[in-house]
Amino acid sequence: MNDTSRFIAIIGGGPAGLMAAHKLLEMGYRVHLYDAKPSVARKFQLAGRGGLNLTHSEPLDVFATRYYENEARFTTLLKKFTPNDLRDFCHVLGQDTFIGSSGRVFPTKFKATELLRAWLSDLSIKGLKLFTRHKWIGFDQQKNLLIEDAENQIITISPQATLLALGGASWGKLGSDAAWVPTLTKEEVNIEPLEAANCGYETRWPQSVPESCFGSPLKNITLTHADKTTKGEIMLSSYGLEGGAVYALSKSIREAINKDLSTTVLIDLKPKHSKERLTKILEEREKHLPLGKFLKQELRLSSFSLSLLKALTSKEEFNCPKALSEKIKSLPVNLYKARPIDRAISTAGGIKFDACTDDLMLKRLPGIFVAGEMLDWEAPTGGYLLQGCFSMAVHVAQGVDHYLREQSQEI
Ligand SMILES: Cc1cc2nc3c(=O)[nH]c(=O)nc-3n(C[C@H](O)[C@H](O)[C@H](O)COP(=O)(O)OP(=O)(O)OC[C@H]3O[C@@H](n4cnc5c(N)ncnc54)[C@H](O)[C@@H]3O)c2cc1C
Repeated sequence: MNDTSRFIAIIGGGPAGLMAAHKLLEMGYRVHLYDAKPSVARKFQLAGRGGLNLTHSEPLDVFATRYYENEARFTTLLKKFTPNDLRDFCHVLGQDTFIGSSGRVFPTKFKATELLRAWLSDLSIKGLKLFTRHKWIGFDQQKNLLIEDAENQIITISPQATLLALGGASWGKLGSDAAWVPTLTKEEVNIEPLEAANCGYETRWPQSVPESCFGSPLKNITLTHADKTTKGEIMLSSYGLEGGAVYALSKSIREAINKDLSTTVLIDLKPKHSKERLTKILEEREKHLPLGKFLKQELRLSSFSLSLLKALTSKEEFNCPKALSEKIKSLPVNLYKARPIDRAISTAGGIKFDACTDDLMLKRLPGIFVAGEMLDWEAPTGGYLLQGCFSMAVHVAQGVDHYLREQSQEI
């Protein structure tokens, strides 16, 4: 079948694809959205299970720094659709948001389900044609798009413009399987290899670390890697470290492992105490109280922190106030490998920005635009990933509009 009617095709119904659809429909375009899965936005819904962190309330200039070397680019993108615009957008859909104590923004209902339901209903009212179980598999000789439909038939579509919003390479079973990488590589689109981001890291625990530690959180700690320190929580597991504090440093940890094969992070179990104060407290300890008990009762170390501290400290160090306070303040854990990409919260790498025009149209494939996690950018958790996808989608929708206006003037 050759569909030659005039419409814009969006491939991929994640947050980026849906937001671009919303904007293009508002501009009056006919939009067809194709997704490989039986329903759209499956990762968005998964994100909602832990309390959907939509965006962050910090000032835009600080917000933009969360995109590392892409700060300048995101300064522009965020202005196209700000965190406040996103909150207003949710409000219009009947889904209010609130700012948590950390400054993070969540839907009042905390989940993604209701927001998504309201959003899809609005898109349908605006005229979106949705094709689920329709997987884009590549191009024909004329660069028309080839789509495998629910009956495994290959259909050819010739939209006026196309947006690919296919996501990264994590949680493949939810749709983001990165099958687009070889297809676009064949078209000579420059792609940075995809790697796990916001992920756990593996270590080789010494046998002295008891199994009872695994699955346990270390709370109120700080984690340091190189010159970066982050507050938060770490989850100890049989293979290594997980948790918010690790994810926040995942870019720096990944780059160090890529360079040196392994790297060391330092856990501060008592961030509010200086090393000197700890040493003094330990030196002045009443000797009748066993040291382990003292650390729990007086220094309020949790049993997991204490077990880990003991396991990673020699007997001599443990009994020397100066050496012990040193270890409490900077307990080293050597990391050598990221956890599998399929379980990462997001991916780093993707289509390089220099493979795209400023409007994010692929230079090698005129009329084909890209948005969302499939591009080469990353950000920590905190609402920065979704906001990045939404802002980029709004920018791309404007780019598609410019492109189509120019095309119509040329005719
Ligand atoms: C557990 C977890 C929790 C998270 N929590 C948060 C959070 O609280 N806050 C936050 O900011 N971010 C969070 N994220 C990250 C966020 O969900 C992603 O960054 C975001 O979903 C990326 O959006 P996207 O539209 O680029 O891609 P995706 O959401 O991955 O969507 C891509 C879509 O494209 C479709 N697709 C792929 N290939 C094809 C093809 N060939 N043909 C047709 N369709 C195709 C897929 O089926 C999918 O629907 C979380 C992620 C995970 C895994």
